[in-house]
Amino acid sequence: MEEEIRLGPLPAEVVEYTPPPEEEAKDRGWVLVALIRLLSALIVGGAVFYSTEGLVFMIVLFILIVPVEKLFPRHKGQKVRRPLYKLDVSYALSSPLLNLVGLIAAGIVAIISFAWIPGLLIRPLVDEIPVQWMPIVGFLIFDMIGYWTHRFYHEIPVLWKFHAVHHSTEHLDWVSGFRAHPFDGTLIAPAFIFLIAAGFSPEITGVFAIFQIILGLLLHANVKFRFRWLHPFVGTPEMHHWHHSNENDAVWTNYGVALPLWDQVFGTYYMPKDKRPSVYGIDEHIEPNMIDQLLYPLWQIGNPLNIIRHPFRSIGVGFRFYWNLMKKMKWVIFRPRGMKPPM
Ligand SMILES: [Zn+2]
Ligand SMILES: [Zn+2]
Repeated sequence: MEEEIRLGPLPAEVVEYTPPPEEEAKDRGWVLVALIRLLSALIVGGAVFYSTEGLVFMIVLFILIVPVEKLFPRHKGQKVRRPLYKLDVSYALSSPLLNLVGLIAAGIVAIISFAWIPGLLIRPLVDEIPVQWMPIVGFLIFDMIGYWTHRFYHEIPVLWKFHAVHHSTEHLDWVSGFRAHPFDGTLIAPAFIFLIAAGFSPEITGVFAIFQIILGLLLHANVKFRFRWLHPFVGTPEMHHWHHSNENDAVWTNYGVALPLWDQVFGTYYMPKDKRPSVYGIDEHIEPNMIDQLLYPLWQIGNPLNIIRHPFRSIGVGFRFYWNLMKKMKWVIFRPRGMKPPM
């Protein structure tokens, strides 16, 4: 407790958050419901027209994972057609389009994050690393930055709204990992540009990123294997299922994807021997349709037309946002171990 006081409370909100109107959500007219369905269908249709990659990837995952889930289910009664499976299938089909939008945002974030400056600064040190060690060192740095990025997405309220969409699922299985906001993950872009500026090859760094995404999808599977002997060394479904658990002890834990090492080192590792995760999801309400979910974190940003209307003021707001974000990141890095979200 003493430490908490010394560190001070969680810094003030980056931008005032205005929650979407709840009353409206409960009592929607048929016009709005029809419009939401139409827009969702347009996104899914447009995405499949743009690329069938999401469809193919989904079929591969279905063939590989669903039989294993059927034979060795972690949650026995859970069917393939469980609640909201259509929503997650829509995300899977839309993934080529959503990823494209995410990639454009990531490019902008990578440049304005200035993460390439420290990358360039450590380049002489990286040049000293023997060539054969480069992939291993690169992987360790990438995975550690991935850990911190994920932690920032959970512990900084303004970022959490983006990641909350992924955590809104109450059923984990072969397709649930697809449910994610396209801007959830843009923060990994600074890690990417940092490594490339430091002298790691873009191809290898790209392979790390793809590996993380595929492994991340597999970790959501509804399978009963614990892989207990693997727990200390690599991320397992059990570890990620705890990450999705809504139990107080499990909140703000298990941020690692490939390696549990960072959770162990930075004090967020949670793998009780005598318990298994059972309840997933979050307390806040997020409407169970793609349009509302894509808009969910954007309400806090305010009217984007303000950039045109008040360009100079917007630059000031942007700088304040960046400065506050840095302050919050510092708070997250130095917060006491084992701390839970402030109520
Ligand atoms: Zn998470
Ligand atoms: Zn997940």
